Amino acid sequence: MLASVTNQESLREKYPDIHEDELCLAWIKTGGRVEVPKEEYHRVRKRAARHRWDELMGELYMVTISGKELLVPKPCDRIQLVREHHERTGHWGIRRTLNLLWQRHYWVGMKQDVRAVVTQCQTCQRVKTHYAREEAMLTPLEIKSFMYRWSLDLAWPTKRITKARNQRVLVMIEHYTRFVVCVPSSPKLLK
Ligand SMILES: [Zn+2]
Repeated sequence: MLASVTNQESLREKYPDIHEDELCLAWIKTGGRVEVPKEEYHRVRKRAARHRWDELMGELYMVTISGKELLVPKPCDRIQLVREHHERTGHWGIRRTLNLLWQRHYWVGMKQDVRAVVTQCQTCQRVKTHYAREEAMLTPLEIKSFMYRWSLDLAWPTKRITKARNQRVLVMIEHYTRFVVCVPSSPKLLK
């Protein structure tokens, strides 16, 4: 979290967050009917032109070049918003969560916030350690060549009984080619 906060701070110094850019916010909300110091005028007007304030909902939108409007949530709501997206999708990773958020939202430092939420998600961490443990216990069987290893398994009982009174299937797999042989078998034969 600390790394993400530091990143966010340096980004904010460079481009102040729109919600903290008071002059710009005032311009957006009043449609330019605001006193702006001369040296700030150009910057504020330019930035404000890319935003829209929704009076009714009290929400700020960023307007893209193509005219699409993206919601710019307040800084205090962002982490919760990312968390909701991450959890609602069944714990998607950083890239996919980010892509999903980007379709309707925008803010400076969104990537850092997504990374912080996903890497610190307790559920994801539990799943990861669980899989790591499972993997450590599994040792793959060696397959040297064709016909080196076969595995046999019984599928049973199948619902239908054949005329020859077979109700089970002996499934044999050759591991090198993954060639499968199925042999109908009677319950008696393979008891
Ligand atoms: Zn997660």
